[in-house]
Amino acid sequence: MNIAEALSHFNQKTEGSGCQLIAVSKTKPIAVLVEAYQAGQKHFGENKVQEMCDKQAQLPSDICWHMIGHLQSNKVKYIAPFVYLIHSVDTLKLLQEINKQGQKANRIIPCLLQVHIASEESKFGFSEMEIHELLSSASLQALPFIKIMGLMGMATNTENQELIRKEFRGLKSLFEDIKSKYSFDNLEMKEISMGMSGDCDIAIEEGSTLIRVGSALFGGR
Ligand SMILES: *Cc1c(COP(=O)(O)O)cnc(C)c1O
Repeated sequence: MNIAEALSHFNQKTEGSGCQLIAVSKTKPIAVLVEAYQAGQKHFGENKVQEMCDKQAQLPSDICWHMIGHLQSNKVKYIAPFVYLIHSVDTLKLLQEINKQGQKANRIIPCLLQVHIASEESKFGFSEMEIHELLSSASLQALPFIKIMGLMGMATNTENQELIRKEFRGLKSLFEDIKSKYSFDNLEMKEISMGMSGDCDIAIEEGSTLIRVGSALFGGR
C-alpha cells in the first residue's frame, strides 16, 4: 500500500464517526510528509520539538502540527507560535509555561491533559485523582492563554483486546465526568485522543475523536 492508499483506508475508518486521523510522522523524512500532504493530509503528529520545528519551517503553513510526545517546559517557546494542539500535557508547571509562551506569542494554545490509563508503569500522565485535583483547584482559571480541549491516553501495549477496550472506556468515562462536573472559560471538553496503529479500531468504537497513527501509514520506524 502506498501512502495515499493507506490514508484513504484510515479516512474510511473514521468517516462518519466524528473522529479525525493524525498522521504521526516522527522520524520520517520531509519527502514522506510531502507525499501525505499532497494526498490531502493536513494533521501531522510529532514527538520531538526540534524535529517538529524543522519540518514546520519547510512545509506549507496550513498544516496542523500536533505535539504528541513528552514536552519539556524549556522547549515550549519553540512551538508556541504555531502548534495546533499539545496532546501531552502532564503537569501544572508545564501548563503554566505554555500559558506564558502563549501570551508572548499572543495566542491561546489548545491542550489536552494526558492521563495515565495503561497498566504498565509510566512516568508520564496524570492519574484520574490528579486530574480532579487540578480541575477543582483555581490554578487553571489563572491561565487565559491555554485552553483545555480534552484528554489523551495510551493503552497498554498488549494483545489483550479486552484490557485495551477497558482502558479506553475508562478514559471516555473520565472525559464525560469532567465535562459534567467542571465549567470555566478555558475548559472546552471536545477531544479524546486515543488509538494508535495497533489499537485504533477499538479506540474508534470507544469514542475516540483523534487517532494518532504512524507505522500503519508510513511503515515501521
Ligand atoms: C509514535 C506514537 C504514536 C503512533 O504510533 P504507531 O504505533 O506508529 O501508530 C501515537 N501516539 C504517540 C504518543 C506516539 O509517540
